[in-house]
Amino acid sequence: MKQINRIRIKHEVNKCVGNKNCLLYAPDYFSFSKQKAQLQNNYKKANVEYRDITVNHSELKKLMKAAYSCPVNVISIYDLKNNRIIVDNSIHSESAIELFADNHSKDRMKFDKTGYFLVKIKKEMKQIEVGLCRKRNIVAVKIIGKTPEDIYKTIINNKLLSRFDHAAYLGKELQKAYIALQQDLNYVQDDELDM
Ligand code: SF4
Repeated sequence: MKQINRIRIKHEVNKCVGNKNCLLYAPDYFSFSKQKAQLQNNYKKANVEYRDITVNHSELKKLMKAAYSCPVNVISIYDLKNNRIIVDNSIHSESAIELFADNHSKDRMKFDKTGYFLVKIKKEMKQIEVGLCRKRNIVAVKIIGKTPEDIYKTIINNKLLSRFDHAAYLGKELQKAYIALQQDLNYVQDDELDM
């Protein structure tokens, strides 16, 4: 027999960014209006939608997938019978250690054994081009893409870097290059964007 669960769904509608993942996984429970998802048949307190409902195991799984897929963590699910959290997306930071970032602008980055990257943009193609140099000024691999994410995932998947600081540096430069393309600005690697 299928397990039956009495659950509460919580949806913080004001924080929803409207990417519709929840509708993909649980279309019977979420609808869409005015750029936001809405929990169907909800009761509302402040900006939070709630629904208490009895579901079988397969429906619960759909709702859990919807909650886990939400990029901004605004869907939570509670087991009402056993008074426990099934998917808790609220962020708990009460016991977090706070580290204040020091100024590291003068620290030199250590050389990555895989090489170094040259980043440039091709405005006419709306593309970012990254060259991996294993020897000085000799590009061994070119990675061409339209978004930072496409490029850095390709670099990671192909193991073209090996250091955290190098990855962070590359991410920063890719995002700058992307903003330059979007805003029709000049991009010069290692320089601030002239906004
Ligand atoms: S997945 Fe989250 S952010 Fe996306 S529409 Fe649903 S509730 Fe909104």
